[in-house]
Amino acid sequence: MKYIGAHVSAEGGVQNAPLNANAIGARAFALFTKNQRQWFSNPLSKTSITAFRDNCEKLDYKPFQILPHDSYLINLGHPDPEALGKSRASFFDEMKRCELLGLDRLNFHPGSHLNGISIEECLSRMAESINLSHEKSKGVIAVIENTAGQGTNLGYTFEQIKFIIDKVEDKSRVGVCIDTCHAYSAGYNVKTLKGFKETFALLEKIIGLEYLKGMHLNDTKKDFGSRVDRHENIGTGLLGDGTFSFIVNDSRFDDMPLILETPEESLWEAEIKKLYGMIEK
Ligand SMILES: [Zn+2]
Ligand SMILES: [Zn+2]
Repeated sequence: MKYIGAHVSAEGGVQNAPLNANAIGARAFALFTKNQRQWFSNPLSKTSITAFRDNCEKLDYKPFQILPHDSYLINLGHPDPEALGKSRASFFDEMKRCELLGLDRLNFHPGSHLNGISIEECLSRMAESINLSHEKSKGVIAVIENTAGQGTNLGYTFEQIKFIIDKVEDKSRVGVCIDTCHAYSAGYNVKTLKGFKETFALLEKIIGLEYLKGMHLNDTKKDFGSRVDRHENIGTGLLGDGTFSFIVNDSRFDDMPLILETPEESLWEAEIKKLYGMIEK
């Protein structure tokens, strides 16, 4: 079964996210559990937590259909100890929020070396950050997103992600989310069927499909291998419809959140409908 949705707004409280998802026909959703532009937010209120859980139950959203995303400020591989500490504290809080909401995964961008430390050193710090987050929370999987590799961002190759996973102690609580726009920008040709097959064969070989906990469905504005992260609406970017048709017709992407992060939100309802319509009977 395919669970397709979008990164919906949680304005006014996390309990609104499932309502917003349902309103556009989403069968999966992503959300920020706090203001993503701030390091720390007030704790989630009991009322908010209860309302979120009730709304999810009423609208039939199970944890495996929900992929919360952490704040973009967080850099779990930061070269500066003080900044690393702040990032970690913020990430631990995000893991805890997911736990309180009854969610089982938290999606994040691994981070950047900022030319302050080596790539390997930075990846090791990220793994250590994940290990520490596991001590501070229960039951939530840290889901590493592949990146476009813009600037000094890491996580743009499957080998880098594998390097992190290898150093994570509790392998049952680490996962991967593949963003189609990021993959293409990073040099994985998910545009053609041949390239798509090769990319996911590589993912299977290098990382292992058992780690795949969600997908971000984004078309892209930027060229193959450009290492620039600019999302585009489905079918109107350089990928076109093909990539998305491969995904919705491939059982390896069953039973996980497939999330739109496309720029024009008013199109999400139509995009979800279109993606469901691409499924060959
Ligand atoms: Zn993404
Ligand atoms: Zn992106």
